[in-house]
Amino acid sequence: MTTVDLPLLPLGRGTDPLSERGVDCPGDLPAASDPDLVARARAAKAALGDRLFVLGHHYQRDEVIEFADVTGDSFKLARDAAARPEAEFIVFCGVHFMAESADILTGPDQQVILPDLAAGCSMADMARIAQVERAWEALAAAGVQDVVVPVTYMNSSADIKAFCGRNGGVVCTSSNAEVALDWAFAQKGADTKVLFLPDQHLGRNTAVLKLGYSLDECVVWNPHKPDGGVSPEELAKAKIILWKGHCSVHGRFTTDVVDELRAKVPDLNVLVHPECQHEVVLKADLVGSTEFIIKTIEAAPAGSSWAIGTELNLVQRLANAHPDKNIMFLDRNVCYCSTMNRIDLPHFVWALENLVEGVVVNQIKVDPQTEADALTALQRMLDLPGKTHRD
Ligand code: SF4
Repeated sequence: MTTVDLPLLPLGRGTDPLSERGVDCPGDLPAASDPDLVARARAAKAALGDRLFVLGHHYQRDEVIEFADVTGDSFKLARDAAARPEAEFIVFCGVHFMAESADILTGPDQQVILPDLAAGCSMADMARIAQVERAWEALAAAGVQDVVVPVTYMNSSADIKAFCGRNGGVVCTSSNAEVALDWAFAQKGADTKVLFLPDQHLGRNTAVLKLGYSLDECVVWNPHKPDGGVSPEELAKAKIILWKGHCSVHGRFTTDVVDELRAKVPDLNVLVHPECQHEVVLKADLVGSTEFIIKTIEAAPAGSSWAIGTELNLVQRLANAHPDKNIMFLDRNVCYCSTMNRIDLPHFVWALENLVEGVVVNQIKVDPQTEADALTALQRMLDLPGKTHRD
């Protein structure tokens, strides 16, 4: 079994129905150099009033966050939108899968808008439904599908969430991945295996560091190889089948930068997101979700030093908000989420001014069957015991 990789498209040009990337922006965008952009955004937002609710993901750039009614991680934002039924228009300053989740969780009269359709997620694109269906068939052919429970990270397309809903699986966030995996391993008795999508790092870090499985019990399913590149012996031994996906931002952090910074900065605390590579997480002092990172820095004593392994817009915002703490980025290079950064002021103004004119642009709409199946998997997550659902 072979698959053809997606062609690389210049962002914002051309179309690719299999990907969240590379979709033209219809209509004329304001020029990025327009000195009136901020005033235009304010005026359009004021004109729309309570009909509009603007969601800003933590990794979004400051010029857009300034206009957010609420900020947070993807799941919190989707729930915030659902809690505002009077808002007809939900403008999601984030990426495509987040807008899909908001559409799934909000009411039928609420319309979710993504200001730039090219704002996809490279991790979500690494698990496409056709690939996952083929993997599922391969697991059936190998005689193990009956004991496999699929678990998908929130950072996946609605199609993948729906796949999990249809096949007895669940959605998880980086905060509740441990509880979700615990639940999944209890579903099919002692022989249960988990298929974890699409982020191999979150799956491995949770299975090994939180649940005590060994690295030998984790196998990586490569959708570009026949039978995932996993031998029957490896599959028989595996407890967790990790989809070969990763975040292009968090996957960049390396152990040598951890070592370098520790040598330079006395009493340095290294704080990373669980989407980071296992080796990096092993070297960190603390690992946790975006919300955990924010709360940890808020509670840190003045004068303490922190190297943070997550998206740069958030790290910069934390550094600006806490000048009494020594906050640095855990990479030598600038490392923004490039697709999240597609949402800029020109696209934001363009989307809002169209709404003022009565034109809904870039609406994200999940089809009813996918929505129903995805909701099944999301509801299983909401029914998990204990933990919060923040990612
Ligand atoms: S930071 Fe990573 S997981 Fe999040 S939207 Fe960007 S590419 Fe996707």
